[in-house]
Amino acid sequence: MTSDLPIRVSDHGISRENLDKNALDVINQLNEHGYDAYLVGGCVRDLLCGMTPKDFDVATNAKPEEVREIFRRSRLVGRRFPIAHVRYGRDIIEVSTFRQVEHDQIETSDSGLIVKDHAFGDMADDAFRRDFTVNALYFDVQNAEIIDYVGGIEDVENRRLRFIGDPVDRLAEDPVRLLRAMRFAAKLDFEIDPVIFDHEDDVADYLEAIPGARLFDEFLKLFLTGHAAPVWEQLRDTPLVRSLFPTCNPESELVLAAMRNTDERIANDQPVTPGFLIAVLLWDDFQTRVAEQNPDNKPGPMFELAMDTFAVQQQHLSMPRRFTMFAREVWSLQDRLETRQQRNITRLLHHKRFRAAFDFLVLRGREDKKLKEIGQWWEDIQTKDQAGQKKMIDALPQGKGGNRRRRRKRRRSNNRSNPNAQPAQGYESAQFPSDSVTMHNGYDEYR
Ligand code: ATP
Ligand code: MG
Repeated sequence: MTSDLPIRVSDHGISRENLDKNALDVINQLNEHGYDAYLVGGCVRDLLCGMTPKDFDVATNAKPEEVREIFRRSRLVGRRFPIAHVRYGRDIIEVSTFRQVEHDQIETSDSGLIVKDHAFGDMADDAFRRDFTVNALYFDVQNAEIIDYVGGIEDVENRRLRFIGDPVDRLAEDPVRLLRAMRFAAKLDFEIDPVIFDHEDDVADYLEAIPGARLFDEFLKLFLTGHAAPVWEQLRDTPLVRSLFPTCNPESELVLAAMRNTDERIANDQPVTPGFLIAVLLWDDFQTRVAEQNPDNKPGPMFELAMDTFAVQQQHLSMPRRFTMFAREVWSLQDRLETRQQRNITRLLHHKRFRAAFDFLVLRGREDKKLKEIGQWWEDIQTKDQAGQKKMIDALPQGKGGNRRRRRKRRRSNNRSNPNAQPAQGYESAQFPSDSVTMHNGYDEYR
């Protein structure tokens, strides 16, 4: 380290009003107990860029157990390294202890991947173990100064994402960092140091060793935080897309349209769910299986074919069951929405996945005239009162089995609903999969 580091900058344009009061409370209390504590990482970076941070993280020289002692409403999380989560109502402040970059307490696998990392250090050590220079800035609340050990302020000014240290080593330690680079580049409109892409083939291989649950967390951040389309456009041109979604066609227009649609929903404060994107990403593979193994669209085998589709994907990125089931239901409704049998319409309109299945149909219909018309019909019927709906239903041409009497079993179906009820508005509760990730949007409903 050279003697002119760290740089301390007080002319940064960040005012105290922009800081989160809970994070300030955490810092105050740690200070009162004699510890150092700073805002760090994404919040400092975002504030410097004039953006509103989605969360505020704190770094301190207090050990995780010491943080735990001070804050009653805290718990330690993380296997790779313990971090304290301090809870303020629904808000969580993450408090991490200064860590070192290289130490014999850090276990690495043969490829250099960090397996376990419990080695504590001071603030300088902590700065150098972080991924990008712009993510390693500390905000000293007492002196209202930014502390920069790695040239991060200059990189923010030049809108540049650069690894701290040698990109080859940093990517071998943790290949997820390349996904993070794409995410930050999309979010901040920064340029990724081109040297990073020289190693994308290796990174694609390394990703195979990353636990599927961690990749699912990253999947959420990549595609459900408002920048899915630019991330996807970047990702699909790299070999990483094959490691993450081996059966998805990177050129799929449906996927890109769904990514854009997801971004729009987030921008409009509408809820989003990973289940919908899973349905989109795996749709082609599911359709191929159906065409090969169940060309007559018999409902019975569809479940198995959906499960086969998920099984291949699960080997790469683990998807909680509630989201795969969500995708399966959206798929299974497509055929019913397309055929529009008179006797099914009211029930479909009240189906708990109607809204999602309808959105999916509309996306599929962008390039298909017939599907587009059907989508428009479903759009129209939702705007009608009961009499108007009946008129539209009666006007439907009756195809095969249109007025067939329902079998008894069918009548007892869970989906049968009160015909006077309002059309289904939302996706049924899909809880957030991991409270270690704070997202722009919950997934509890979808309208
Ligand atoms: P955002 O919260 O906006 O997604 P962030 O930069 O805060 O961005 P987090 O995932 O919350 O990202 O991580 C907080 C900080 O922890 C980062 O800014 C970075 O300094 C450090 N960090 C996170 N993940 C890694 C990693 N894989 N390797 C090195 N440092 C990391
Ligand atoms: Mg963060």
